[in-house]
Amino acid sequence: MAGEDLGKVLDKANLDAILFLSLENIRYLCGFTGSEGVLLVTKQERYFLSDFRYAAQAQKELRGAIFNRYRQKIEGLAKLLKKLRIKRLGFEARAMNYEDFSLLHAKLPRLSLTPLVKEISRLRALKSPEEVGKIRQAVQIASAGFKSILPKLKSGNKEKSIAAMMEMQIIRRGGQRSAFPTIVASGPRAALPHGLASEKVLQKGEMVVIDFGACWDGYHSDETKTIILGEPTKRLRKIYELVHQAQEKAIKIIRPGVSLKKIDQAARETIARAGYGKFFGHGTGHGLGLAVHEEPRISPRATGVAEEGMVFTVEPGIYIPGWGGVRLEDLILVTSTGWEKLTFLPKEIEENIIF
Ligand code: ZN
Ligand code: ZN
Repeated sequence: MAGEDLGKVLDKANLDAILFLSLENIRYLCGFTGSEGVLLVTKQERYFLSDFRYAAQAQKELRGAIFNRYRQKIEGLAKLLKKLRIKRLGFEARAMNYEDFSLLHAKLPRLSLTPLVKEISRLRALKSPEEVGKIRQAVQIASAGFKSILPKLKSGNKEKSIAAMMEMQIIRRGGQRSAFPTIVASGPRAALPHGLASEKVLQKGEMVVIDFGACWDGYHSDETKTIILGEPTKRLRKIYELVHQAQEKAIKIIRPGVSLKKIDQAARETIARAGYGKFFGHGTGHGLGLAVHEEPRISPRATGVAEEGMVFTVEPGIYIPGWGGVRLEDLILVTSTGWEKLTFLPKEIEENIIF
């Protein structure tokens, strides 16, 4: 689904207009990269509304949308809706907050408000070559940054300082910022799937899960490496190789038409068959683009199939409380015949042991 198909959503749901509130969708549909505003899409026009601070930026950035300045967001929006005689308004349910909703309803009590979730969830799921190019650039920046901090991954260094170095590298290499707070989880903390970097000091023999990404021109990368500081124990080696196998099995079956659920299953069953099923408690992957997490989701509850142009992660993991964990994450582009890995740092165990 691309921006042009919004006409179909309007028709199907019998709406006069759709209100977009998430910055990612606003950027996608009208080009505005600032951090305040709403976008109203009618059958004829697109209207971007924002305040004084963004007027100049909006005039410069907007593609195919009319700029409308407000003093107060909902007040300005209500005025425009009235002027356009909008009677049935669909809105981005996941991005509308209750306060704005109530205010809008109070101002225009006769306006019918329809929450949209599924109808617009696929809006950004298929990436254009231009979008893929931006994701590739984010991957380049993050990978180069990672390579340069690799020597700092040694016993005695703090998780937090490694995360800070990673984030600085991303900015120094031209990234806008880190895609998300870098995860550095070492030793027993590696059992926390989203273990934010802490004051903990790395120690010899530990595994270190590092989940990092860059943002470039609004687009993100996302990758996870698990580094082993010194000769791994038998158990660590076994679990690392199992996660790697699960990841490869899932990636191998990707091609247009394959159900997203099946991709999740391929990873999940590999881990479950080895007896570690209960230690893999999250989905196998997520789409990524203007947001770090977006459609499609690769999970046991996923619906739909892989389609050419989708970009998503494949990131199985095993997390054992008190012991630690391993996660490996790569970014995959679905191509016309199969897949292409956009991330390129090696995931083989031998390439991830640091002595
Ligand atoms: Zn990640
Ligand atoms: Zn991820």
